[in-house]
Amino acid sequence: MSENTFHGVPRSNIPWYPTINYEKCLSCGKCVKYCKHDVYGFEEKQGKKVPFVKNADNCIVYCNGCDAICASGAISHPSKMETGRIISKLRKEAE
Ligand code: SF4
Ligand code: SF4
Repeated sequence: MSENTFHGVPRSNIPWYPTINYEKCLSCGKCVKYCKHDVYGFEEKQGKKVPFVKNADNCIVYCNGCDAICASGAISHPSKMETGRIISKLRKEAE
């Protein structure tokens, strides 16, 4: 099976995926419905359904569309600039 890569770098080495702040999350489920890449799932926690990041590597590198659809501002992604630096470094190391 071929490995999923981004500009020649194994996707699993790139730290780009959403983080959910559960202090802010209202469990509305918008993010789960919105993402077409199966990044999110729902799980039961203390009798409540909450979203979780099920497939982090499915998140499209540099997409941060779901940050904006979360009305409570509970979703964040890393800095694009910092991620770009990490990817450049990994590409140089692979040369
Ligand atoms: S859209 Fe925001 S508030 Fe709604 S479930 Fe997702 S993280 Fe929680
Ligand atoms: S940033 Fe894009 S690909 Fe990643 S979880 Fe959100 S909607 Fe899905």
